[in-house]
Amino acid sequence: MSLRIRRSGEVFCAALAEEEDGDMYIDDNLHYYLSVEKEVLRTYPEPEHTEKGGQWFWRHEAPEGMQDNFGTFRGVCFDCGIPYSGAKWVEAVIPDNVWNDIRPKGSAEGCGLLCINCIAGRLSEIGYREVPVWLCGTEPLIAMQGDPASRIDCSKESLETGDK
Ligand SMILES: [Zn+2]
Repeated sequence: MSLRIRRSGEVFCAALAEEEDGDMYIDDNLHYYLSVEKEVLRTYPEPEHTEKGGQWFWRHEAPEGMQDNFGTFRGVCFDCGIPYSGAKWVEAVIPDNVWNDIRPKGSAEGCGLLCINCIAGRLSEIGYREVPVWLCGTEPLIAMQGDPASRIDCSKESLETGDK
């Protein structure tokens, strides 16, 4: 998900709001940082998010009705509910046209949230095969290509002192 900030300071989901003169565009990475890591941006859970035009709010300016979402609303997988901000989330990105065939009902084009397992499940259900996937921001994992038999050494960094 990416965002646009209007000259007025209002923030919208880029896929749900038409571009206007003077918009500042915020890409996925910065959006993730602001909404998940720093939690300074908030919005309504779906389907309200889409119904209300994809508006996001700076934490200190969020409307009364949204106060309940503070601390309770975090992005979760639409199908299984695992949290986007959790340690088990593996960020998987698939081509936009494929995503639009499986994205959760009620979410706008390019929006919505599914974990990698539920993405695979939905793809299988409708007969997709060999869909390319990009894995990004998946710490502690890094995506590799090629034969898994050609293993490289991994180490546990600073989790256990005295580890060689
Ligand atoms: Zn899921």
